[in-house]
This record gives sequence, structure tokens and C-alpha cells, in this order.
Amino acid sequence: MASRCLEPRLERASRAAMTRLQLRRLREQVAHAARSSPFYRRKLRAAGADPRKLRALDDLRRLPFTTKDELKENQLRHPPWGDVLAVPPADVLRVHLTSATTGRPLAFLDTAQDWHGFYHSYARSLYAYGVRKPDMVMAAFSYGPWIGYWSGFYAAQDLGCLVYPVGGLSTEQRLDALVTYPITVLGCTPSYALFLAEAAAKKGLDLAKETKLRITWHTGEPGASIPATRAKIEAAFGVRAYDLPGLTEIAAWGFECDARAGLTHVHEDYVYPEVLDEQDRPVKPGERGELVFTSLYRKAMPLLRYRTRDVVQLADRRCPCGRTLVAFEGGVLARLDDMKKVRGIIVYPRRIEELVRPHRDVDEFQIVFRRVDGLDDILLRLDPSPSLALAERPRLREALARDLQLGLGIRVSVEVGEPGSLPRWDHKARRVTDERTEVPF
Ligand SMILES: [Zn+2]
Repeated sequence: MASRCLEPRLERASRAAMTRLQLRRLREQVAHAARSSPFYRRKLRAAGADPRKLRALDDLRRLPFTTKDELKENQLRHPPWGDVLAVPPADVLRVHLTSATTGRPLAFLDTAQDWHGFYHSYARSLYAYGVRKPDMVMAAFSYGPWIGYWSGFYAAQDLGCLVYPVGGLSTEQRLDALVTYPITVLGCTPSYALFLAEAAAKKGLDLAKETKLRITWHTGEPGASIPATRAKIEAAFGVRAYDLPGLTEIAAWGFECDARAGLTHVHEDYVYPEVLDEQDRPVKPGERGELVFTSLYRKAMPLLRYRTRDVVQLADRRCPCGRTLVAFEGGVLARLDDMKKVRGIIVYPRRIEELVRPHRDVDEFQIVFRRVDGLDDILLRLDPSPSLALAERPRLREALARDLQLGLGIRVSVEVGEPGSLPRWDHKARRVTDERTEVPF
């Protein structure tokens, strides 16, 4: 099946043509960073890297990495933007903050052209899901300095869609809008989609029947690339749900197309991806590694070899859609920062979600890493669906304990609480606590 592309010339480019384009943009970016960003001038000099010697894409490997901690440090030292900034402040059009779990968030600046690049590549993803000009779109992200709302809104508008702005509206008002207006496309975090579905069910509202929704897209968290989570969203809304992986500092960098082959395409004309193993060597197709991105379009903060801390698997097959863009198997598979070690075994919260979501009687859950009698332990707290009979709860508990033990290779304690007793998430979820690393007083 050959699905339609917004920009077939780029999305189906030959490898030689894409490499030429990437190399030209890469050389431009590196020269610009070396010339105009004091941060990169210092870094490149310290590493003995000469941007003029960049003759092939592989030469990029001689340049140093950039980390988020470094950028945060740079902003603390040179407030407020850091001297990574490579354009005059007057040329900056937009500021967005990354969501921070600790410390001050990173402020990220864009020129008008940078910003166009961000939302236009995002629009290309929406087009690949099947979003078209006649669609009416609701971007249900938080209104504020985070990029989610703005990029979703501008991307939909870029395709000519009618966008209904709901950033500052309550869940109640959003549900009302969904049944009142001919909204066909909804964007939000996967946690918020589940929250919205629950809120609708409580009101006796059937979103699949009573709205015109046909497509949803999800970003901010990897939920929509987890098959069971996606199936739950699709059933509740009567839609096809798509994952849109993105990073404020890089781009809305990828998309799964409507061929739904389980592959995530990368906008590699906007961002040059490297997938590196633990020794920072490129992995082979079919292998996993850390995703490292070099921005090929942003001029205000031109990040080179930015370590995303995301684990992806380089695809070793072609997508039936006919796109030639580099692809990953199943989106972002793990966040290195979320990795936990329990009795010597590595556990990723995403893996736990993969094992929990197929149990349809679980509405919400929490994961607690703790120490019991000096031993590491994982506790899974469950919020059962209100429709599950009280007598059925022990069966649910046992089924989950069995699946988790098989799937993770360690025993997990499971607790079933009362329906609605765990917190719900209207933005990104915080389902994980690690009591082992938190000070007990
Ligand atoms: Zn495809």
C-alpha cells in the first residue's frame, strides 16, 4: 500500500539525494554553531574538531556530544538563555520550556524560521496519520510555556484545518466541545486520553458514538506506541490512534504512518539521527541503542549530537507505505533516565505498562520501587474498573502478579485498591515513585 505523503519528494527521496541534502544542511549548521554560538565555539575547540573538515556524514562522529545537563548548566552560568544562543536576541520569536522533573526547566528559543520548521515537520506527521484540510482539530494540551499545545495547534493550522483552541478549558468543557462541534481529530498525551475517556464514561457519554472523532494523536509520553494502551484509546474514542514522538529541543521528530506497520519514520531532513551502542558506536539495523540527534534546521539553538537518553531500535525492514526515511521499530522503547535496577535486574516502567494495559479491568496504576526487609521490591498499585465485581479482584491481582513475574523475570507485589483511588493525569503521568532514592524525612 502506498500511502500519501505531504512532501513525497523528501519522504520518498533516494538515499543518495537525502544524504546530499543532509550533508549540505549539516555543514551549514556546524559552521553556524562554530561562528555564532560561544558555547559551541568553546566545545568544538576543546575537542579539536574543525567544522571545515566535515566532508561526509560519518565525519560528524568526530564532533563532541551535547547533553541536556550541559545546556541547563550553560543557562545557569549565562542567564537567562545561555551563550549557546547563536542569533541576536531580537531575532528570536518563541520561547518554550522543557518539562523538568528536577531543577529549573531548560528554556529553548526559536527564530521565526526555526519555529516554522518545528510545526511544519509536525504537520507532515499529522498528514501521514490521515489528517486533512477539512478536518476540525482539538489540541488538548496545557496552555503555557510548553511546546505541546503550540506545536499541535500550529501544525494543524499549517494543514489548513480548523483548530478549536482548548488549552485553558476544563475537561468538562472539552467533552462538551467534542459533542457540540464537528471535531474529527484530537491530540493529547495518552494519559489525558484515558482520563478523558474515564470522565466521559462517568457521565454516561459514549465518545465513539457521540462524537465525530476519527483520528487521535499522542505525544509527551510513549503510551500510543504501546499496543495495549493504544487499543484502549482506540476503543474508547472509536478512532485510529497514533504516536508522535518529539523533543522540545529537537523536533516533533517522527511519526507512525497510516500503514501501521509498527515503524516510526524520522523526519531526517530536519534532524540527523544516530543510534549508538554503549561504546558510542553506530548500531546495525535490527539493533538497539541511544538516539542522538543533530538539528539540521534550528538556528537560534543549533544542537549538535544531542543525547536524547531515548532507546530506539533501528529498523531492518521497509515500511509498506513507500517512504524511504530512516525508521525505528515501535517508537521510543525506553528512557535511559527511567531505568531502575531491582535485585540486579533492569526494569523500565514502559515494560510494566506493556504488561499491565492488556488487563482491561485496570483503569489506572502506580509503580513503587521500595525496600522491604533490606531487599528491593516493586509494588504495583491498581485501580480496578468500577465494573469489576468485588469477588473478581483477587483473580485480577493474581493474573497481574503472574504476567509481571513472567514478563520482568522478578516477583512483583500487587495491591488492588478501590476504583478511583489513584491520581489521574491531565498532562504527563507520574506513575512511578522510587522510595529507595527519596530521603525518608
Ligand atoms: Zn510508513
